[in-house]
Amino acid sequence: MIRRPHKVLRPRGQVTTPPADAPTALLIVHAAELVTLRGPYTRARRREEMRDLGIIPDGAVYLEGGRVKEVGDTRDVLRVRGGTRDVIDATGKVVLPGLVDAHTHAAFAGSRHHELPWKADGLSYQEIAARGGGILSTVRDTRAAPREALIAGTRKRLDGMLRFGTTTAEVKSGYGLTLEAELEILLAIDELSNTHPIGLVSTFLGAHTVPPEFEGRGDAYADLVANEMIPAIATRSGARFCDVWVEEGAFTPDQARRIFAAGKERGLDPKVHADELSAAGGAALSAEVGAVSADHLIHASDAGLRAMAEAGVIGVLLPATSLAAKLPFADARRIINAGVAVALGTDLNPGSWNESLQSVIALGTHRLGMYPEEALTAATVNAAFAIGKGREVGTLDPGMAADLLVLDTDSVGHLGYRLTGNLVEKVVKAGRVVVDRAPLR
Ligand SMILES: [Zn+2]
Repeated sequence: MIRRPHKVLRPRGQVTTPPADAPTALLIVHAAELVTLRGPYTRARRREEMRDLGIIPDGAVYLEGGRVKEVGDTRDVLRVRGGTRDVIDATGKVVLPGLVDAHTHAAFAGSRHHELPWKADGLSYQEIAARGGGILSTVRDTRAAPREALIAGTRKRLDGMLRFGTTTAEVKSGYGLTLEAELEILLAIDELSNTHPIGLVSTFLGAHTVPPEFEGRGDAYADLVANEMIPAIATRSGARFCDVWVEEGAFTPDQARRIFAAGKERGLDPKVHADELSAAGGAALSAEVGAVSADHLIHASDAGLRAMAEAGVIGVLLPATSLAAKLPFADARRIINAGVAVALGTDLNPGSWNESLQSVIALGTHRLGMYPEEALTAATVNAAFAIGKGREVGTLDPGMAADLLVLDTDSVGHLGYRLTGNLVEKVVKAGRVVVDRAPLR
């Protein structure tokens, strides 16, 4: 027998932290499509593996203690778990793992909406930076913001991401560019990681750009990052990765090598902002240093992609940035055909403010040349591996985290098809409903 769940009326889209005594067992039944993304892999998926979504028609999933316990045909799961008190009837809806955002700069202060007229006048990314806009303008705002303000602003963006279905995300520092300011950002992310429903992984990006105090002295700043910032960050924050923007005008491969060596010594695994504006060698470097991911890859060379495939480096593609910064779109088909496992991220940042991975999945299909199944794999299981969480989130397998979405559509094909909007009806994080946008009746 299926009982209806207790009906709770609350404003649409509100993000809630359930009371500690909220029930921890939840049964979801009769999903038109239960998208499990199950597979025999203990690594990110490549080539045709990326098209296998493991869909169970009329599927059910039973969650207990924050984990997935049973997945299968509704009749089979009901046979074992039919007595569960809290049940969601997902008839006519899609159930899938919570989305994973592999690349964000969500922790910043201020805004750059005032740069849009410059864009309309045809100024390039570099020209906007030369006028005092771009990253350095956000560095000024972020350095000036008290930690509480940084936390409050970032929390709002995380709320937005959660409503669009993101249950796990990576967040980078990189708008401080001094030890103190970078540490402030990482501690703000740590605080949010303990208090916000989204599971966060933090990345130290002290080598985002050369700060004004070091103009013309990139080598000296790279040494500061490697020798002074990394040892302090590694002991005083929860940072898991170390990222460097390898680009003309940012950091050279040689400077990046020194920073990555220092990071690895302290347990921070490398990630690379690679080949975004030009073929700067980031893809090849990511393979050489054993990076977890190389991100952007708009101008990656064939040799660089081959090296990434051989080394098992995940390619994280960020099409919303191409849209906002008027850059070319990465060629996902070429990258997937090279054998690179591809993930997606919003790259949420003040120059490309997008909290919706659903729209990124759509850009993946409409502009990067991805099959809808590939784009969804890229925004779930492959994104999870790209941030070191592939054994915990990204699929609905027994033992995985009980993070899932109920979509108000009967076919997962609508993800990647609709350009914008929000298909998410419910977000379940660690077995508890944290967003409920069900239409009010
Ligand atoms: Zn980035």
